[in-house]
Amino acid sequence: MNERMVPEVGVLADTPAVVQLNAWLRNWARRLDFRLVDERRCLPPHWVLALGNKGLLGMQVAERDGGLLGLSNFELLRVQRQLGAIDLTLAFFVGLNNGLGIRPIQRFGSPAIKERYLPQLASGRILAAFALTEHGAGSNPLGLSATALREKEGFRVNGSKSWSGSAAWAGVISVFTRHLDEQGRDCGFVGLCLDAEQPGMRQGSEALTLGLKGMVQNQLHFDAALVDPDRVLGSPFAGMAVASDTMAYGRLGIAATCVGGLWRCLQLMMRYSTRRSLGSHRLWDHQYTQRVVDDALCAATAIGGWVDDLALRLDQGLPEAPPQVLAAVKWMASEMLGEVSDAALQMLGARGYCDNNPIGQLWRDARITRLFEGPSETLATFIGQRVQEQPVATLDYLEQTAPGKIAAQRLRQWLADAGPMERLSAGTLRLGECVAWLMLYAQPLDEPSRRWVDFRLEQALHTWERVRSPVRAMPGLAEWINANAGLCDEPQPGEDSTIDPLLMSREGL
Ligand SMILES: Cc1cc2nc3c(=O)[nH]c(=O)nc-3n(C[C@H](O)[C@H](O)[C@H](O)COP(=O)(O)OP(=O)(O)OC[C@H]3O[C@@H](n4cnc5c(N)ncnc54)[C@H](O)[C@@H]3O)c2cc1C
Repeated sequence: MNERMVPEVGVLADTPAVVQLNAWLRNWARRLDFRLVDERRCLPPHWVLALGNKGLLGMQVAERDGGLLGLSNFELLRVQRQLGAIDLTLAFFVGLNNGLGIRPIQRFGSPAIKERYLPQLASGRILAAFALTEHGAGSNPLGLSATALREKEGFRVNGSKSWSGSAAWAGVISVFTRHLDEQGRDCGFVGLCLDAEQPGMRQGSEALTLGLKGMVQNQLHFDAALVDPDRVLGSPFAGMAVASDTMAYGRLGIAATCVGGLWRCLQLMMRYSTRRSLGSHRLWDHQYTQRVVDDALCAATAIGGWVDDLALRLDQGLPEAPPQVLAAVKWMASEMLGEVSDAALQMLGARGYCDNNPIGQLWRDARITRLFEGPSETLATFIGQRVQEQPVATLDYLEQTAPGKIAAQRLRQWLADAGPMERLSAGTLRLGECVAWLMLYAQPLDEPSRRWVDFRLEQALHTWERVRSPVRAMPGLAEWINANAGLCDEPQPGEDSTIDPLLMSREGL
C-alpha cells in the first residue's frame, strides 16, 4: 500500500451543486437509523418528504417542468454514488424514482403526461414505479404475457407484474405489455404510463426480499383495465425500446451506486482492521489485509472513473456508449460490490455477522445488484452476443484510448481464435465477461489498478477456458438429492390473514 497511501480517487472535481447536495446528504444521514428501517421493513415518511423538498427524487427534471435541480448526468451519478456510500436502500429508493420511475415519462411521455406528473414527481409529492418483470418473464423480458388489446376507446390491459419497486407507494407506474391490435394480432410491445388510480389495476402482495427491506416490491394485477391511448409512452409498437432505454441508463445509475457501496466497504474495513488488535499486532499489519483493501480500492477507483467517463460522454453529447458498454459497467460494478462486501464481512469477523453492525445489511442489500435490471449472466451473454454479431461498435468504443487500442487488438484475436459460438452458450457468456474486463482495461488507470485489471482479465480468460471441458451427464440428480437430503419444503398452515368473506366490502370477493 505504500506507493499510494493517498489514493487518486475523485480525480474529477464535483460541481458546486454536487458538493452542496452531498454535504447535505452526509449531514442529514447522521440522523437516519438504517438498521431500524431494515428491521421494520419500511422507510419512514420523513425520508420521502426531506428528499422531495431537496429535489433529490427528481434530480434531472428541468426547472420548467417543476424540478429544483436539473442536474447533468455526471452530477446525478456523483450524488447517486454518495447515496450508495451512505446506505444502499436509501440509494436504490432514490435511484429507482429518478431512473426507472421518471426517465420513461420524461423522455417518452406526451406533453400532457409530463405536465401532469413531472412537477409532482420532482418535488416528491408522488413516487414513480416501473413494471416490466412478470413471474414468467424476468431475465427474458421478451417473454411477457401481459397484454394491451387495442380497442376503440383505448387499450384493454390484462395480466400481472412482479417485483415492481415502489409500486404500492407510487402515484404513477410505467407498465410494459404485449400490444395486440383490434383483431388480437401481436404487434410488439407497448409502454403505458398509468395513474395509481387506474380502474382495473390492483396492487398485489409484497415480496419478502433478502435486502432492500425498507422499500417495497410488489405485484400488480390488471383485470380488463381500460387505458387511455394518450398514456402510451413513445411509439405504441416500440414499448420494449422504451424499457430498454430506461434500463440501459438505470444500469449506469446502479454502477454509480455500487461504487459508493465499495467506498463504504473500504471505510468499514479500514476502521476495523486498523483498530483491531490481535495481540502483538493489528489486523491491518497483515499483508493479506492490505491486499484485500488494495484490491477493493482498485475496484472503487477504476470503476468510479469508468462511470464518470460514461456520464461525461452523455453530457458532452458524444455518441452514446453502445448498450453493451452500459451492461458491462453494471455487470462489473455489481460483481465487484458482491466480492468486496463479502470480503469486508469476512474481515470484520463475528462483528460482520451481527446485525447491530452495518456490513451485514450492506451485504444483503448489495446482493440484488447482481440480479435486477439484467442478472449478471444475462448481461454477460448479451455482451458476448453483441461482440460477436456487431464487433465494430465495441471495437470503436475500445479504440478511443491508447490502452483501448491494445484491448481492441486482443478482442480481434479472441474472436478469430474462438470462431462462432452459440448465442446462449457458456462460451458466449464467458466471452462477455472477458470483454467487460477489456473495457475497463481501456480506461485510463493508475498503475496499481492497471496491474489489478491485468490480473483479473487473465483470471477471466482462464474461466473462459474452463467452458471447453465437458459437463457430466446428471440423470436422476433431483431424485437422488430428494432421497438423501429429504423434503422439508411442504407448505405450512401459517396464519390466516385474509378477511372473513362475511366481512369483506364485496361479498365472496
Ligand atoms: C428487490 C427487487 C427489485 C426489483 N425491481 C424491479 C422493478 O422495479 N421493476 C421490474 O420490472 N422488475 C424488478 N425486479 C425484477 C428483476 O429485474 C428480475 O428479478 C430479474 O430481471 C431476474 O428475473 P427472474 O427473477 O425472473 O430470474 P430468471 O429469469 O428466472 O433467471 C434466473 C437465473 O437464470 C440466469 N440466466 C438467464 N439466462 C441465462 C443464460 N443464458 N445463461 C446462464 N444463466 C442465465 C439469470 O442470470 C438468473 O441468475 C426486481 C427484483 C427484485 C428482487
